[in-house]
Amino acid sequence: MVTHAAPAKDLETSVLERGRRILSAMQRHAKEARIDDQWVDRFLQKIVEDERFRVQALRFVDVLPALKSDGELARHLEEYFAGHDLPLTGLIRFGIRYTRAEWATALLGGTVRKAMRNLARRFLGGADIGEVLTTAKRLRERGIDASIDLLGEAIVSEAEADSYRDSYLRLLEEGPRRLAEWAAAGETPPQLNVSLKITSLYSQIAPSDPDGSVEGVASRLRPILLAACAQGVSVCLDMEQYDIKGVTLECFRRLLMEPELRSWPDMGIAIQAYLKDTEGDLKELAEWAKTRGTPVTVRLVRGSYWDYETVIAGQSGWPQPVWQTKWQTDACYERCTRLLMESHPHLRPAIATHNIRSIALAMELARERGLNAEQFEFQMLHGMAQSLENVIPEQGFRLRIYVPFGELLPGMAYFVRRLLENTSSQSFQRMSHTQHLSPSQLLATPHALGAAAESSTAPKTHAEDALQLQSFRNEPRRRFTARAERLAFHSAIATVHKLLGQSYGLAIGGESVDSGDHLISLNPARPEEIVGKVAQATPEHVERAVEAAASALDPWSALKMERRARYLLDTAGQLRSRRDEFAAWEIFEAGKTWAEADADVTEAIDFLEYYARQAMCFAAAPGPSAPGEININVFRPRGVGVIVPPWNFPLAILTGMLSAAIVAGNTVILKPSSQTPVIAARFVSLLQEIGLPDGVVQFVPGSGDVIGDHLVTSPQVHFIAFTGSHAVGTRIVRLAAETKAHQRHVKHVVAEMGGKNAVIVDSDADLDDAVVGIAHSAFGYQGQKCSACSRAIVVGGQYERFLKRLIEATRSLKIGMPEEPGTFFGPVITAAARDRIRKAIEAGQESAKLVLHSERPDLQPGYFVPPAIFSEVQPDSPLAQEEIFGPVLAVMRAKDLEQALQIANQSVYALTGGLYSRSPANIAKVRRQFQVGNLYVNRKITGALVGRQPFGGYKLSGLGSKAGGADYLHQFLLPVTLTENTLRRGFAPGDHLADIDLAAW
Ligand SMILES: Cc1cc2nc3c(=O)[nH]c(=O)nc-3n(C[C@H](O)[C@H](O)[C@H](O)COP(=O)(O)OP(=O)(O)OC[C@H]3O[C@@H](n4cnc5c(N)ncnc54)[C@H](O)[C@@H]3O)c2cc1C
Repeated sequence: MVTHAAPAKDLETSVLERGRRILSAMQRHAKEARIDDQWVDRFLQKIVEDERFRVQALRFVDVLPALKSDGELARHLEEYFAGHDLPLTGLIRFGIRYTRAEWATALLGGTVRKAMRNLARRFLGGADIGEVLTTAKRLRERGIDASIDLLGEAIVSEAEADSYRDSYLRLLEEGPRRLAEWAAAGETPPQLNVSLKITSLYSQIAPSDPDGSVEGVASRLRPILLAACAQGVSVCLDMEQYDIKGVTLECFRRLLMEPELRSWPDMGIAIQAYLKDTEGDLKELAEWAKTRGTPVTVRLVRGSYWDYETVIAGQSGWPQPVWQTKWQTDACYERCTRLLMESHPHLRPAIATHNIRSIALAMELARERGLNAEQFEFQMLHGMAQSLENVIPEQGFRLRIYVPFGELLPGMAYFVRRLLENTSSQSFQRMSHTQHLSPSQLLATPHALGAAAESSTAPKTHAEDALQLQSFRNEPRRRFTARAERLAFHSAIATVHKLLGQSYGLAIGGESVDSGDHLISLNPARPEEIVGKVAQATPEHVERAVEAAASALDPWSALKMERRARYLLDTAGQLRSRRDEFAAWEIFEAGKTWAEADADVTEAIDFLEYYARQAMCFAAAPGPSAPGEININVFRPRGVGVIVPPWNFPLAILTGMLSAAIVAGNTVILKPSSQTPVIAARFVSLLQEIGLPDGVVQFVPGSGDVIGDHLVTSPQVHFIAFTGSHAVGTRIVRLAAETKAHQRHVKHVVAEMGGKNAVIVDSDADLDDAVVGIAHSAFGYQGQKCSACSRAIVVGGQYERFLKRLIEATRSLKIGMPEEPGTFFGPVITAAARDRIRKAIEAGQESAKLVLHSERPDLQPGYFVPPAIFSEVQPDSPLAQEEIFGPVLAVMRAKDLEQALQIANQSVYALTGGLYSRSPANIAKVRRQFQVGNLYVNRKITGALVGRQPFGGYKLSGLGSKAGGADYLHQFLLPVTLTENTLRRGFAPGDHLADIDLAAW
């Protein structure tokens, strides 16, 4: 609830009067304006009126630049708009009707591209510097200034960031020279003003690492600012997504405090009023500008990424950083306008909006504060509010138009955002053009709108829908945008570092046992560092552990399901309160980076919370009954189980398998991975801390060679839950199938095994997304996730371009020590893993071309193997067939989607797979035909979330139900049906079920 007071009455009256004057002047201009392209208007109108058409149109516009042939274009047009009444030119309609004919397709392609270029021209000021300067000149003739923005593709690598920096440096050289030529010809040149985005200047910005990110951006921004300063050009930093707001502000402040730039007055920054943080940021900026001693410009905007921010926060379970109702953003805009006016001269206000109420208020506030028209300016976007553009200078105020320029292709992201904005239901532009509102409705204070809105229900957003799925919610991962969050994480790492090297015993029947023989766990990034010494079990310990589990079975299984579920929830609560500490252990023992370590802990919490809830579905329940007959379905625990988790998700998978087994009433022997026994030991002590009864979990680390077979073959063991390699998994299945003398059950095996996961890149894929998604899927956690991408299959003509961008994107990933916040890529788990991966890379060169891989001797003796990419890989070669379990990616060509699918399915595994495509028909086809347990479309293929993406595959990838899914618990329970004949001597009780105590069955 916003508590600031509404503007005072007399100010409000003058705002309304001013607003009315602006509105009537706009109407005059609108009548005079020549409508240059009626088709464009009809198209925009249709987008506004028809939500389904709007979605399809925006998606079609987005994919258009990737459609290289007319045939492709015609196919997409049909796929996107089948069944729509299209507001199209006669020529396009004609072309669509005859799309099977080549001549018609050519006609259609040419016409659609021309129409789309016209549409884009509404918002772009030209394709190159010459054209944009001509636009700026025309604006100047109308008394309007310009801010030029060079559109670019999203950059995915340092090479692309270099090239973007160079383009800006060229603009700063060429722009003033051309303007000087105008001046020489006797014309008044405008002062050149450029806008730029920090995401175009550094590819590795990470909220967790503000210092490293600022350094990365500053290394390219500094020369641009120095050149601008030398050339008399003013610059404004655009504000982008919330995740990088801190980095943007910090970079701005740090650079402007450097001696060469401290007295430069021509720099500005955009601030977004839709963010809840904004007033605080603005106040800090004003204080800082005072200290600096030279003013800066603040461009006050509402913010362009509202939908994105809302969806991302909703999807991730983060608090919403943006106001959730339009009136709150509007009210914040008004408060910030006042703050800005009050902060003059340290901050120079640039009121960037097309909202007439906001403009009128700024004019009146400036008057109230005694600011003259030279001391602040208005700004608008090119093409957004044509009839308003003339009104501002006419009323004696300064106006600057933000004019982007560039090719249609790189400009699409910008263009789609403008279309979205112009046609969203909350946009002032749309409301003023389509909803026939009266001036007083259009100019109403946000406070009045807010009061009205509060009495009705707020519109539901995507985010709210997503969150209401069920009562289980995924634990939000750390966003790392908050300083406090980063400091806490740093401090957990420092604390845990001091605890390295301790010893841990076995835990059998509640007793700690020191076997005298220790497994030494090393830090893979610095193998000279001992993470911990963990006692190793012998076969005798295994026998004791099995006995202890068997003795604990009866009392544990006799507890009600709800009571056992409560233990899981208590464990989750404890883990939640110590999440950073556990993440720090993962950094040191498993070589996980900040984000990966945090994700593993949150997933562990998710498993506990999820299985605790799922367990409640397995309480005894009546089945279908008939007169004189009662049927009850109950579930019984299987007995003693063995849990064998892997090292790659040392907490999450361990917790998932173990918690599902024990909540079902079983008791278990946990044999942790020998690579990550310390994390397991600490988790087991956490179970003791929450009071889990002795004997429910025995902790028995040890070498698989020494104790593995003993565990699996023990006749008292009823089930084995395993995650790991295909070789070990199938051996367990084989051993478990043998029934020993005195054994009265067949063992049940749950096994999650390997993968050789492929991602298909379709010919129309968005490469910005595909390149980053595949690099992250292949090289996140050094390629050591079961879900990691190890094959990229590229369809058609995008191959060369995809490969080039992928190589550069991968080369740009930060390799280093996992405890450093900016590191993306750390060590592999052991020296043996490192050697095995190196061998695979060497062998791969016999059949394919190694296009990226270089060793990092500076990181030795850590077990680092930097990413390797092979191109021209043959689908049947070992590189494409065998699991390497490391950062090795095979890139392959496919002539069409059919062939891509055939290559993708040519594997003994079926775990995860992915597709990047913007063709609805191709997406549908891949959904049907790609043989994988988890298919991801247009996103990375790792990072499955408990409950939302139950995880697991088939073929040689595993047997059993999906982890984190509704069926998982079944595997640890025996279903039993109890039937009683209630008919005695011809009499059966009537409503008999109501009286039954289900717990007693
Ligand atoms: C010169 C200039 C430069 C710009 N630079 C940037 C920049 O660097 N970064 C940036 O992000 N944007 C920038 N913008 C875009 C700007 O943020 C707005 O998106 C755009 O101007 C439309 O807002 P408005 O004030 O004109 O009008 P309005 O139509 O009144 O407001 C629309 C805006 O309201 C907000 N909104 C919509 N629905 C809701 C809702 N349900 N709850 C809360 N808020 C909602 C959104 O921010 C939306 O864009 C710039 C705009 C201009 C004019």
